Amino acid sequence: MSFRARMTLLYTSLVGGILLLFGVVIYQLISNTLIDQVDDILAQTAQEIVDNTQVNALGELVIPASPNLDLATNVYIQVWSRDRVLRSISANIRSLEQPLDINNLNAVQPVFDDSIIGNAHLRVFSVPLTISSRSIGTLQVAASLALVDATQKQLLTTMIIGVVISMTIAGLAVSITTYRSLAPLGSVTETALQITRADDLSRRIPYRGPADDEIGQLILAFNQTLSRLENLFNTQRRFVADVGHELRTPLTVIKGNATLLRRMGCADDEALDSIENEVDRLTRMVSDLLLLAQAESGKLSLDIRCVELDELLLEVLKQTKVLTQGRIKCSLGDFDQVQVCGDRDRLKQVLLNLVGNAIKYTPNGGEIVVGLGKMNDQAQLTVTDNGPGIPEEELPHIFERFYRTEKARTRSRDGKGYGLGLSIAYWITRNHGGHIDVESKIGEGTTFTVWLPVKTNGCEQSPEMFNE
Ligand code: ADP
Repeated sequence: MSFRARMTLLYTSLVGGILLLFGVVIYQLISNTLIDQVDDILAQTAQEIVDNTQVNALGELVIPASPNLDLATNVYIQVWSRDRVLRSISANIRSLEQPLDINNLNAVQPVFDDSIIGNAHLRVFSVPLTISSRSIGTLQVAASLALVDATQKQLLTTMIIGVVISMTIAGLAVSITTYRSLAPLGSVTETALQITRADDLSRRIPYRGPADDEIGQLILAFNQTLSRLENLFNTQRRFVADVGHELRTPLTVIKGNATLLRRMGCADDEALDSIENEVDRLTRMVSDLLLLAQAESGKLSLDIRCVELDELLLEVLKQTKVLTQGRIKCSLGDFDQVQVCGDRDRLKQVLLNLVGNAIKYTPNGGEIVVGLGKMNDQAQLTVTDNGPGIPEEELPHIFERFYRTEKARTRSRDGKGYGLGLSIAYWITRNHGGHIDVESKIGEGTTFTVWLPVKTNGCEQSPEMFNE
């Protein structure tokens, strides 16, 4: 059964049940009140008759004639002697010879009961008449229940119609509301099925309702999940393509050189060097992948100590100058003395990756400036170049695994890049409780800023800080 049908059934039954319960209580209350009113009249009448009834010297009943009694006109009276002889009867039932209530003709105590005579539904009060505790007859006073029955019938009809109408309205209201509220879920299901069938993660669920209601929130979350999945899927696809590409070149070189060596039948230094270089490249890639996997999962083992960032930066600058061999100008910008808690080798790796990129993407004659400062208890390491810059639309992706800009794919000069450098830098920094910012302008250059918490006390490793 569908959710909509279940909700409709539940609410309709609930409304029906409540109204029915309420109806039964009202019906019972009104019925009891009406019957009580009739019983009061009967009891009063009976009392009046009993008060006026006498016994003569022979021990016989002397009953006042009915008209002498101040009786309600719709009250019927019979007085029966002990030997079941009708001794008196009210004028309005003169022709009736049978007892008003045959079951209680010998009642030993006053009793109210219902009785049917012909088509008439009567309420009968039977009162035993006694003299000195001796029973001498029975007085039966009755009134018609036609009015009570009619009222009850009317009440019942009104209630049944009311309950049916209320249940129908409740059912329709719930059904329409549920249909309207759940209609967007239909598109969620449809889109999910389309994605599965067409293997197309670029689809999103359209929703025109308010974004802050439950369904809007669900669809927003679902669409965000789809975007994330699409990103991951694309990254994964790129990963396979990139790894395939990265592996093919060194493997081809190794294979070519191995074949050459076999043909030559002797060791050739150039071929062996080439094989060694390619194996080094493959080894580097595999270690980078392992390092990244550890850093991403927060399982990177860090040797936390006090690190003098100024010393570290000067060391990196010296290495950079060696690497660029004057091809690119390397200089020191703002400089301060800052200490942080961290793993010196890993932090050096972050800087080397950023400076390495600057060298890789800045053309000959360009300039790289590194700097160190402090702002609000945060160390600020900067690496600026005046290279080609990164397109704005690519900036949000450059820290993703295996992400390489289109330009980098086709132009990387040394063939060393495979889109892991920035991911590794990002995750190492995160593992140190910091983060990396990037600013770039096409044609003007790029600045990477690494923010790290400045050392305040000792350098005991705090899990909150390093295992984000
Ligand atoms: P790669 O091995 O391709 O350098 P990275 O993860 O280090 O991988 O960098 C990701 C991408 O970011 C690079 O492919 C490049 O397009 C871009 N990038 C990084 N640093 C710079 C820079 N200094 N100037 C221009 N582009 C850069």
